[in-house]
Amino acid sequence: MLRIEFEAPKESRCACCQNTTVKLTRFVYQDDNAFAVYYAQFTPGHGEKRLSAMIGLGVWGEDAAGPESRLAFPFDIWLNGDNFQVGLSDAADSPWSGVTYLGRVIDREEALRHPWRADVFHITDHMVSTDPDIVKFFS
Ligand SMILES: [Zn+2]
Repeated sequence: MLRIEFEAPKESRCACCQNTTVKLTRFVYQDDNAFAVYYAQFTPGHGEKRLSAMIGLGVWGEDAAGPESRLAFPFDIWLNGDNFQVGLSDAADSPWSGVTYLGRVIDREEALRHPWRADVFHITDHMVSTDPDIVKFFS
């Protein structure tokens, strides 16, 4: 069972249009163990409702375990009619391509072959159904 901590969003200015960009950092627990961290950002003022995000999976919370014991999966979420689409992206195309805390950022090809992609899609299901800021953005 997954549990997500929802902290207050942070806001900044979009570099392209000066609209407000909303940035989320979420901590995900599975059976009360640290399981994943995700970042998400979106700009409600943009014409297209599209969210960029990245999920880090692996070992957390142990002093000896650093970012090298984790992998980060970058992706976008958008709506196609009533259906959420999740598209894995390449590290270079991610807003967090230089971030190492979530782990080594992997490209789409590697992500599609990786067994952890099932956990990624499990978490994205929760993101669009239970993360209040994401639900509000897409509603
Ligand atoms: Zn913009």
